[in-house]
Amino acid sequence: MIFDAIVVGLGAMGSATLYQLSNLNADVLGIDQFAPPHTMGSTHGDTRITRQAIGEGTYFVPLALRSYEIWQELEAKTGQQLLVKNGGLFIGKEYSDSQMHNKPGWLTTTIRAAEQFGIAHQLLDNEALRTQYPQFRVRPDDVGYFEPDAGFLNPERCISAQLELAARNGATVRTYEQMLSFSETSSGVLVRTSQADYKTRQLILTTGPWITTALANTAYQNLLRVYRQVQYWFDVEDNYTAFIPNRFPVFILSDRDMYGFPAVGGPADGLKLAMETYAQPITANKVNRLVSTAETQQMYERYVVPNFNGIGPKCIRSAVCMYTMTPNGDFLIDRHPDHQRVLLASACSGHGFKHSAAVGQMLAELALQNRTDFDSQPFSLTHFNSPAA
Ligand SMILES: Cc1cc2nc3c(=O)[nH]c(=O)nc-3n(C[C@H](O)[C@H](O)[C@H](O)COP(=O)(O)OP(=O)(O)OC[C@H]3O[C@@H](n4cnc5c(N)ncnc54)[C@H](O)[C@@H]3O)c2cc1C
Repeated sequence: MIFDAIVVGLGAMGSATLYQLSNLNADVLGIDQFAPPHTMGSTHGDTRITRQAIGEGTYFVPLALRSYEIWQELEAKTGQQLLVKNGGLFIGKEYSDSQMHNKPGWLTTTIRAAEQFGIAHQLLDNEALRTQYPQFRVRPDDVGYFEPDAGFLNPERCISAQLELAARNGATVRTYEQMLSFSETSSGVLVRTSQADYKTRQLILTTGPWITTALANTAYQNLLRVYRQVQYWFDVEDNYTAFIPNRFPVFILSDRDMYGFPAVGGPADGLKLAMETYAQPITANKVNRLVSTAETQQMYERYVVPNFNGIGPKCIRSAVCMYTMTPNGDFLIDRHPDHQRVLLASACSGHGFKHSAAVGQMLAELALQNRTDFDSQPFSLTHFNSPAA
């Protein structure tokens, strides 16, 4: 048998792609080395921020808007809540050039994107920020952007929903099976895994932080870097009601590389906060998955205390995750530089989840129809100027 498409890697991007391929009645196989959703890659930790005015670049907005539609379609099909629109508050210096996800002027671009696409939002001056959000230690030069339809997604549930629906549509899902190699033949691609050999017309690699191996020995072998990131849940039991979703939005402190969520799991479960670090590139198989006491203490003292009121020092839990970054924080969604029947998506860079449902649609269309209505140019390999750097 020859599949129309095989998807290797069933995290955020791969589960979305498998679901979209199955919607197009293709004969499809999805393979993962673990059993998604799992905690070994880039898609775990209960929550991911979603928003519509995308400060990383206005060309992301169509992906975000389409993804909102797909999340809602998935909710209707599964009867599960995947998306909570409790609002997003993004705080920083007005006209600051400071960056988020390697994107300078992030807050300014967010406001521009909202204006360009007619996305509902409010701008808050310093006084309004202080009055409305006493949970934050607002700096004298901070201003705010509030987007009422922003909020958070449950990434584990999104993956499960898409894999379940794909299987219901006839897709085959193989877990605990690792792809070892692939090779192009005259009629397709031969995929060798730890369990079997498979033939396919198109191969889609959505292997997250493991994708660097797919680019080894190509002109783009140094394009991607993987970085360890930590998610922390700090204690808010004494002030729990100040942090519940209808009082406390998802937030990004763009001048401080910090973001976080309301308390979603009950008073004893804490509030999830994280900051971004790009100190040292790592590899997915060698990442240090332990979070030390010193690391947690530093997070509390350097990032929590100066920026919040009402969050306690007790860290209830933490989780290590990985960002896969291009040099400018854009996504890579393109054909493999040396294999025309192989598509790659490394749509991570710390902001990929919110777009993943639409990225899945884009990849499915490219694989089966060799075209897509999405503008894929900003995500193409040629978009990156110095692949050898
Ligand atoms: C801490 C953190 C916070 C984030 N916060 C946000 C946020 O708030 N909002 C947002 O939009 N985005 C956010 N992101 C980014 C977003 O989560 C990622 O863009 C997205 O989850 C990446 O998904 P992926 O499918 O590319 O990778 P993964 O989910 O890691 O999936 C890759 C899959 O490939 C499998 N695989 C790899 N190699 C093989 C092989 N050889 N054979 C078989 N299977 C293989 C793995 O087992 C894995 O299941 C965050 C990321 C992190 C790490």
